Amino acid sequence: MTKLCVALTEKDTESMLAAMHSLPAEVDLVEVRVDAMESVNLERLIDGRGRPVIVTNRPPRQGGACTDPEAERLAVLRRAAGLGAEYVDVELDAVADLGELPGSTQRIVSVHDFEATPSDLPALLGRILQTGPDVAKVVTTAHDIMDAVPVLELLRTNASGVPLIALSMGEEGLVTRVLAGKFGAFLTFASHAAGMESAPGQVAVDQMLGMYRFPQIGPGTAVYGVIANPVAHSMSPAIHNAAFAALGLDAVYVPLKVNDCAAFLDAFERCDLRGLSVTIPHKVTMLGLMDEVEDLARRIGAVNTVDDRNGRRYGCNTDVSAAVGAIESAGRRAGMETLGGRSVVLVGAGGAGRAIAYGLADKGADLTIANRTVEKAERLAAELGVRACGLEALPDLAADVLVNSTSVGMWPNVDASPVPTGMLREGMVVFDAVYNPIRTRLLREAEEAGAVTAPGVEWFVSQAAAQFELWTGVDAPREVMEQALKSRLTGE
Ligand code: NAP
Repeated sequence: MTKLCVALTEKDTESMLAAMHSLPAEVDLVEVRVDAMESVNLERLIDGRGRPVIVTNRPPRQGGACTDPEAERLAVLRRAAGLGAEYVDVELDAVADLGELPGSTQRIVSVHDFEATPSDLPALLGRILQTGPDVAKVVTTAHDIMDAVPVLELLRTNASGVPLIALSMGEEGLVTRVLAGKFGAFLTFASHAAGMESAPGQVAVDQMLGMYRFPQIGPGTAVYGVIANPVAHSMSPAIHNAAFAALGLDAVYVPLKVNDCAAFLDAFERCDLRGLSVTIPHKVTMLGLMDEVEDLARRIGAVNTVDDRNGRRYGCNTDVSAAVGAIESAGRRAGMETLGGRSVVLVGAGGAGRAIAYGLADKGADLTIANRTVEKAERLAAELGVRACGLEALPDLAADVLVNSTSVGMWPNVDASPVPTGMLREGMVVFDAVYNPIRTRLLREAEEAGAVTAPGVEWFVSQAAAQFELWTGVDAPREVMEQALKSRLTGE
């Protein structure tokens, strides 16, 4: 089973020991970065370690901070071995000088590339293996998610019998860290906490355990993810992983920062990728890369969900029914049986507006689309045979249902609202696509006016729940998903 190792970068012995002992029980071993320490009592550190330890004393040429002469630098590793450290990490170009180690300490022989992912990783691994390591370690830098592919391949095809650590640094390499257990790596590294990474792209240990459930990831784990660019702030990993955990499913959901969708899909087919959420800017491109596309997604021109069906890619759109469902449910609370014939004003004609407009038109709503760039509203309205106008016309419109699909009011511009308060009145339904913050200024003002409101979190959770059900065939734990989203949004 792949071990979870926390790399510690504390500055002195006592803080290092305190950090070691504060870690959760699921952490299998710690890496002590001696090169990052200002003072170190190696004897006390190894004596008081409490769990297996890797001692590393990295020189600047391999990304470390130890500027001591090479003989002194390597002497620290020999001393650590003499004191009983379970592992020492020595660089490939220094392993010959390290010589034999006392005791049963194992040698991790490593190579780090902070610039790129070298083209011939098997040859690099071959050079490490020639030195007779106990564990081989290859670390590269990913600038694109495609750089993670040869690293995962190296793990997948390692037939040497020598345990292997292979990972890519950087945000684009995150999959190599999280999926290390699926591909049989010896270990993966996590940081002690956000902001305390010893290498770029390390995931904090509480996220590795809490969100990704790293100890449960193995060869059979199904992989899902969200493809987007940027992706770092996506809420989807938190809510889908919470749902997998609640139902005890052997599955993990990862953020995937993708530039080239076609290349990504082809390369990641070998990763047991069972389903994808698709978001900005890939919803339109994905449509053309599917083997089969649901009618509605084709009509809108946007795929937000990919389901792997025995190697065939099925694309669909869960945004539409989820948004309309949230509006209809608020409508019922306001005494509206149906949206058919109701006067609905949709503000915004971007990607979200487009999905909502199609859904509302299908329900027979009497729809007006208002947008800052009026030509965009007119184009969308013409597709659907509904009315269009600019934002200046809003005060003159009487609506049973008002929908905001613009980004106005979204964090950090939380004091903005897309509509004049005069439009808001008792009994109307107000739906805001914005979900961060949960209670936007528009929703607050609508409630004050006596309107029935539906927040963007309902839409977000519903579209994710529909994806979950499509992928797994089981009912989504909506409350768990909503709670996970809200705690991500509020930080509680
Ligand atoms: P988009 O394609 O970029 O469209 C942005 C829309 O907002 C356009 O209509 C744009 O008008 C309008 N807009 C932007 N800034 C404006 C301003 N200062 N004044 C007036 N109008 C402005 O973005 P999107 O994908 O549709 O997303 C829009 C919002 O919906 C975002 O807040 C997003 O987070 C949210 N959303 C929520 C969910 C959910 O599940 N709850 C799902 C999808 C999206 P122009 O055409 O004139 O530029």
